[in-house]
Amino acid sequence: MKNKIVAGNWKMNKLQKEAKKLIKTLIPLVKDTTNTVVICVPYTDLATAVKLCKDTNIHVGAQNCHWKESGAFTGEIAPSMLKEIGVEYVVIGHSERRTYFGETDATVLQRTQAALAAGLKPIVCIGETLEERNSGNMENVLKRQIVEGFKDITADQLANIVVAYEPVWAIGTGVTATDQQANDAIGFCRSVFEEKYGKEAADNLYIQYGGSMNEKNAEALLNMPHIDGGLIGGASLVAEKFAAVVNAHK
Ligand code: PEP
Repeated sequence: MKNKIVAGNWKMNKLQKEAKKLIKTLIPLVKDTTNTVVICVPYTDLATAVKLCKDTNIHVGAQNCHWKESGAFTGEIAPSMLKEIGVEYVVIGHSERRTYFGETDATVLQRTQAALAAGLKPIVCIGETLEERNSGNMENVLKRQIVEGFKDITADQLANIVVAYEPVWAIGTGVTATDQQANDAIGFCRSVFEEKYGKEAADNLYIQYGGSMNEKNAEALLNMPHIDGGLIGGASLVAEKFAAVVNAHK
């Protein structure tokens, strides 16, 4: 039986003082879990988070990284810069990056490759919009995101990647996919990975659900057979709520 990977995505929230308070409250609340706990915080909170989480079971992640090691890329951050300060995970291809910042399957692949090369664990986000789902295109979209976004990824590399299935219509909307919808979509994604990498690699791959997951719906979602964890936005901004999600699955 796999444990679950529960990652908080703070997005563009929490000044230093707030971050410290949240992390200090969170540490004792999740210390006994057998699940893997990750907090993906803004760049300015990374060093603080790494320091506070040292010698705890909380891992720290960033929310993006560039594919080049250095250079004239104003506003971007290199994977090695994250690695250097003790960051372990990095979210790549979040739907907000795809929608507002022109992220494509091709750039997702480039960023993922660079993150892996630097020794980071990418959390690669995929998911369909409501229009895509309602027009019967959900599977086509997920398949395209996997085929294109993982084009050059080897089976060995896949073992260091976490995938987050996040239906765009459920992110930050308060509308959660039903347990069955989430499980079915993740099961479909797993079958696409299986076609390319084989059953063992696909079974071992961690695929999280993300989209308005919270302390109330987490237990049911995390009990579904294909759901290997959660990527949590809003509910990760309150220590007690995030801890309840982490602890929802024993
Ligand atoms: C997310 O940002 O990845 C997310 C799932 O957000 P929320 O939980 O707020 O829907």
